Amino acid sequence: MDDLDTSHLEWDTPLYRLAVTQLDRTAERMGLSEAIWHRLRTPQRAHLVLFPFRRDNYDTVDTVFDYRVQHLTTMGPTKGGIRYDRGVNLGEVTALAMLMSWKCAIMNLPFGGAKGGVRIEPSEFSASELQRITRRFTSEIIDVIGPDRDIPAPDLGTNEQVMAWIMDTYSQQKGFSVPGVVTGKPIEIGGSLGRREATGRGVVSCMVESCRHLGVAVEDARVVVQGYGNVGANTARIARHLGARIVAVSDVRSGIHDPRGLDIAEVDRWIAEHRFLEGFPNAEPVSNADLLTLACDVLIPAAIERQITAENAARVQCRILVEAANGPTLLEADSILAERGIFVVPDILANAGGVTVSYFEWLQSLQHFLWSEEEVSSKLISLMQNAFRDVLGLAQQHGVDMRTAALMRGVGRIAEAKRRRGIFPWRKQPKAGEREGRRESGRGARRARWLIRKHSPGSASRAFSRSPSSGASRSAPRSGASRSAKGTRCSSSTACRSAPCSIRSFPRSTRTHTIPSATASPGSTCTRSSTRRSAS
Ligand code: NAD
Repeated sequence: MDDLDTSHLEWDTPLYRLAVTQLDRTAERMGLSEAIWHRLRTPQRAHLVLFPFRRDNYDTVDTVFDYRVQHLTTMGPTKGGIRYDRGVNLGEVTALAMLMSWKCAIMNLPFGGAKGGVRIEPSEFSASELQRITRRFTSEIIDVIGPDRDIPAPDLGTNEQVMAWIMDTYSQQKGFSVPGVVTGKPIEIGGSLGRREATGRGVVSCMVESCRHLGVAVEDARVVVQGYGNVGANTARIARHLGARIVAVSDVRSGIHDPRGLDIAEVDRWIAEHRFLEGFPNAEPVSNADLLTLACDVLIPAAIERQITAENAARVQCRILVEAANGPTLLEADSILAERGIFVVPDILANAGGVTVSYFEWLQSLQHFLWSEEEVSSKLISLMQNAFRDVLGLAQQHGVDMRTAALMRGVGRIAEAKRRRGIFPWRKQPKAGEREGRRESGRGARRARWLIRKHSPGSASRAFSRSPSSGASRSAPRSGASRSAKGTRCSSSTACRSAPCSIRSFPRSTRTHTIPSATASPGSTCTRSSTRRSAS
């Protein structure tokens, strides 16, 4: 698509290019309508917010860059996390918002995709500074978020507490409590049981289904997890609970490795005390780069994007790769993994458990309900299993990999919804004498337009309503087939063609219309049926 060159766009970054290339390949394979394809490549709305921010020492004032991108509003309110990260930019947030759209559609959730970001390194800010940044950011985007508009959630570098601050700031401004404005908030203020573990639980569901599909036993399967935050740690805990052996985990600084399996409870105690994995006893240290190439059955990148590259894909030693993080695999790496027969569960399916339980939380918040943890988990697992099997079935049917199949499902559902909704406004009603965008000019055409205005259905009824003798009200129907108007019915197609009759100016619905007096007797009507032009 030559006309879809995006290189001049403000959000053109490597991650955006990755997301858009994935879309392009899928759209081409599906034969997607160009109009829909074009629309899906870009965000529907993008908000860039900058504000000054005073640090705790009171002297330093920083300028903070923040983003909120809403990719698609066709399916319902938009939904997506907010990340606090030094590398956040418009392209990254746009790409992640696109992935959210596909993800929600794969899971059949009534949301479009969104994403937000604040360009800071959260570990360099105190809790009170983070709170002030969060509240200011919330008030800057207050008009574009809301339970029926756009619902943020936690992501990289944010957590339940950040969601609580957003919910409180929003509620303070509205004057009443609005729990549905965010998901992933603490239970005490309307959060859902099971949300904290949801993304990890969904990742493990995909892992279990993949193992079942490939005949790998989950018990004792060797699992490597990159990133030990919300998603990574919960994935490791749940997988361990099912009997898998977690042989390595890492955080932003470093990793730890034990081929016999790590004691996850001990790792958790260490993290609670020391914050980072560094120095953990009873395991070998391993770098993040080396961790990705350790021998294992299942590799789970659960930290950041762009981790499996053309450079390391040939050295990855797993049978199954479950993408818990968003965008961890580059395009070139994807084909290398496919050639090597590594089964990849793509991010838009693997980490969809988070947004699925966010959807449950949103429903509970709107209804002021509290579901049990058992209810949440069993509903989540069942939806994840269904989605996995659906995507796997599609992959087998079309002979494509899981990523392509997942994109086909997500993009396909959105395209169908867009087709059903159509385009607003539907089309501009052309003025008289204006056809195919060309407005006829000259004295004759001007007079013709004047005549049509004068005799068009609307003006006929207006004139009719002005008539002292008619007594008709101003709300007389606009239809030109004013039965009480004096005149004869036209049977001459010549008259219609030669006169600029209103059938040309109202091709959509005018079937009976008034012929101008210049070519026929005044007020006469024509019964020639109009040609309905198809909607664009
Ligand atoms: P988090 O901030 O809780 O944890 C991130 C983990 O990754 C931390 O252990 C951090 O130390 C580590 N990390 C950060 N930078 C790293 C680097 N350069 N190399 C290695 N490790 C690094 O974030 P999270 O909520 O667990 O999110 C992790 C990933 O999962 C992100 O890609 C996010 O978009 C995705 N995700 C999260 C959710 C959710 O519900 N939180 C849902 C869907 C997808």
